[in-house]
Amino acid sequence: PIRVAVRIRPQSRKGESKACLYRAPSETPGEAVVVDSKMVRFERVFGPKSSQQDVYFGCGVGLVDSLFQGYNACLFAYGQTGSGKTHSMLGPDGGNKSNKTLNGLIPQITSEIFRRIFAQKVDADRLLGANMSSFELRASYIEVYNGLTYDLLSREQKRKPLQLRQEQSSNTSAISASIPHVHAPDAITIRVDTLKQLMSIIRRGSQNRQTQKTGMNLHSSRSHAILTLTLEHRWRMTNASPSKTTSEKAKQVEAEKSENQDDYTVVSRLSRLLMCDLAGSESYDHR
Ligand code: ADP
Ligand code: MG
Repeated sequence: PIRVAVRIRPQSRKGESKACLYRAPSETPGEAVVVDSKMVRFERVFGPKSSQQDVYFGCGVGLVDSLFQGYNACLFAYGQTGSGKTHSMLGPDGGNKSNKTLNGLIPQITSEIFRRIFAQKVDADRLLGANMSSFELRASYIEVYNGLTYDLLSREQKRKPLQLRQEQSSNTSAISASIPHVHAPDAITIRVDTLKQLMSIIRRGSQNRQTQKTGMNLHSSRSHAILTLTLEHRWRMTNASPSKTTSEKAKQVEAEKSENQDDYTVVSRLSRLLMCDLAGSESYDHR
């Protein structure tokens, strides 16, 4: 499913013209905004006073659930330059704020991912025994600028565009089979073990995006930044069905242990979460 939410940025003090978009009055059913006296409905509407936490609980935490259930998902921010995309995705100073309440979706989502990795590890060790279940998280961070794709994690001074490969999806569902899978096989992928490590990678990438010769905001407003997190869950069991609950797995593994120690199958499941801070939606000339 595709869900669309709107966040209305607060008016900035300095003589901005009248608001053209506002939240529909609360008597109206559902969530809607009013544009030019027309009402437009969305899954969620976050008003100008909404906090970073409101946006996370409305749009972020569900994606962490999906990731841990093995689903792929993509979250992107769309809107014109200055509308608050980077604020919502990262937060002020690229999610670098000592004041955590200003952290955007990416720092909040990644922090929850690590919290769950550690919590599940503790549970699995206790219920199943050590090393029966483990998670690995990998990150890559690329940008698409002027029709070319670059690696934001590259440490090279002069970054060369990445090669893209297109493959027909191996997925059998009709809808994904019709969409070719485009990826950059040479993009740097880093295994991350802590939130601190991941946030430092994200900061490095975001800085790479901003400090291009073309000028500070001009560049980032014209580039799409795509952070990909890949979660790999591996666990040992005798029956390769990933839909078992933890306690069912525990019972099964226990039964198996008493019979034959070596008779485990390692099962692994990959899921991806893409988070994109898109280029400004205004039209511009690439020159
Ligand atoms: P974009 O990435 O879409 O170009 P920014 O996220 O950089 O826009 O936002 C433009 C300015 O407005 C920034 O100074 C940002 O801090 C501020 N801003 C955006 N959204 C909000 C918000 N919801 N609350 C407070 N300030 C915001
Ligand atoms: Mg931005």
